[in-house]
Amino acid sequence: MPSSKDDTGYVQSLSMNNKPPAPEDIEGNLRILRNVYSHYKTPRCREPTCRASLPLPNVKDHIKTWIANARGSTPSQISGIQCLRCRKFTCIGCRKKPSLNRSSISTDVAVVNHCCNQGRLFGTWVLLCRFDEVELQLQQKSALNAAKNAGRVKEDSGTGYTRGHNPFLYKSADDPPAEIINFRQQDELTDRLMTQLFQLLTAFLPSVDSGSYSKTQSHAELWSFFRISLLLGRVTELVRNDSITDMTKRSQLYRSMLAFVTAIAKDPAFVQLLIEKRVEKKASPGLQALGEERNTKALVLNASSTGLIASLFTCANKTYQCVLQAPLSSNS
Ligand SMILES: [Zn+2]
Ligand SMILES: [Zn+2]
Repeated sequence: MPSSKDDTGYVQSLSMNNKPPAPEDIEGNLRILRNVYSHYKTPRCREPTCRASLPLPNVKDHIKTWIANARGSTPSQISGIQCLRCRKFTCIGCRKKPSLNRSSISTDVAVVNHCCNQGRLFGTWVLLCRFDEVELQLQQKSALNAAKNAGRVKEDSGTGYTRGHNPFLYKSADDPPAEIINFRQQDELTDRLMTQLFQLLTAFLPSVDSGSYSKTQSHAELWSFFRISLLLGRVTELVRNDSITDMTKRSQLYRSMLAFVTAIAKDPAFVQLLIEKRVEKKASPGLQALGEERNTKALVLNASSTGLIASLFTCANKTYQCVLQAPLSSNS
């Protein structure tokens, strides 16, 4: 049975990861993810007379339950796991009784309050795991739609993509823009879910919290989470969409996504995530599954010499240049 000493070691082991690995060091990033996940899988009730195992909840259900109670001046915290035996809550971050932080962040979805830095990290992990679940469902649906529409040319497609473009194969931004666009085919429910996840993830960024925590804390885990998750790939696809009509129709999603990107851009500790070249993921089982070493092979990367593709910033920049140049071209 793990002791409270083990719990302290767990917190210390996380804060030792001061320097994030390079983006192309997939094994290094996965190692950090696996280290964190191994601790998430084995929490025990903080109550000395209980110490029951706290099973890691299904991320979808956990977020739903948390949101339902994340209201008012004493909002529940995403890092709190309830013991089924003694009914007490344990913070999966610090392994203590969840304590209410003096500052809360109100979002349209929930009032976000972090017990501790590691609790916030756990919350970000949960939200990214859920994002990947939704993204993978979206990919499945798009693959089905693509099969159905094979050979058909859409006349009302956006101008940002060339024919045959698959938004889930992360092509280089140097590829010619594609014309078939799957965004408008996604249902509103998925957009709403992603909108909420972007809003919450923004509120979970360390810089968004009003400075209650040390600014010198390590962010290596967050770097690895964001690099391994499918989130930045989706953000890239969204910013590469230059169909103004589509963006307008999906303004809520775009607004929340841009607020998230802006928050990262303003954070000196994270802005590099937008500028660095990214690893091209051809297939992934999602962030949660990749916490297990046995699932590593399900992450399929580009086998080219570098395996790196354009940064999110480069993709966005190219899109805006196209949009800016479009009226000039049409007048010439
Ligand atoms: Zn208990
Ligand atoms: Zn805590």
